[in-house]
Amino acid sequence: MEEIHIGWIGLGNMGIPMAEQFVKAGYRLSVYNRSQDKAEALSKLGAKTSSSPKELLSSTDMVVIMVSDDEAISQIFTNENGLLSDNTTGKIIINMSTVSPGVSIEMAQLCKEKGNFYLDAPVSGSVKQAETGTLVIMVGGEEKPYHLAKSILEKLGKLVMHVGAIGSGNNAKLAINSLLALYAQGLAETILFAKDKGIETADLLNLISNAAIGNVFTKIKGDAILSDNYKAAFALKHIVKDLKLAQAEGLATPLAQTALNTFANAEEQFGEEDIISVVKAIKR
Ligand code: NAP
Repeated sequence: MEEIHIGWIGLGNMGIPMAEQFVKAGYRLSVYNRSQDKAEALSKLGAKTSSSPKELLSSTDMVVIMVSDDEAISQIFTNENGLLSDNTTGKIIINMSTVSPGVSIEMAQLCKEKGNFYLDAPVSGSVKQAETGTLVIMVGGEEKPYHLAKSILEKLGKLVMHVGAIGSGNNAKLAINSLLALYAQGLAETILFAKDKGIETADLLNLISNAAIGNVFTKIKGDAILSDNYKAAFALKHIVKDLKLAQAEGLATPLAQTALNTFANAEEQFGEEDIISVVKAIKR
């Protein structure tokens, strides 16, 4: 049984299965979520609940965050009972959300002024990888907190890699998600084209899976299309956020611009559904 007490903020599609890995690994865990009802799943497993980020930080050794976007991160740090309102020092705060490098640099500086450490540690992989502790985790920040946090992050991922200074993890993640957007749009267009030519989607997916271009993403999202199940594992609205963040960081290539247009146009109708619901938007 590990003695360290971990605090967790953010119990959405990813946060719940990721936090569960720490319970399974025997850590003491306390959780906070803006909508308190979502903490129930973790309470049932023995996690304590906290009423604010401040209370969570003061009562734990390290805090891990997995929330939507820059705005959520700013609020969690700077609100009245936010992380920065606590006066304990020497703690490591790990932000695993996909956010801009800019918000990481800003929050890291504020944490430093309070005597705490900040790491950006976004993840590649989705709910399935979160459930099995096989995410890929890219970390930005100082070496010292990285080495202290690495063995803990390894409970969530099959690969934990330090990629540079604060914000570097965010930049790596934005690069990867640009490719993800291209894959999703490409898969959707390929399926629709083949279907138009009379090729059954199941047959096409079988061919792709056995060809050099087959991959885990195609398998999972192909199955979703076949079963007409677009419940969000990775909500389409989040890829729009990520493509906009990548654009703000200077990604202005033709494919990235096309993908942003496609997903932004799909967002109003399909934003809460899975990224692969883009197939419905393109078909329309
Ligand atoms: P999600 O299901 O939409 O959950 C979002 C979480 O953020 C919820 O806990 C939500 O709290 C919280 N939140 C949102 N706005 C907030 C605010 N202003 N203040 C406090 N909490 C706030 O998202 P997710 O799919 O778990 O993704 C989380 C992050 O991981 C995102 O940055 C996403 O891009 C990234 N990511 C997702 C996947 C995936 O496959 N899903 C994969 C890799 C990375 P409430 O419950 O109160 O709304």
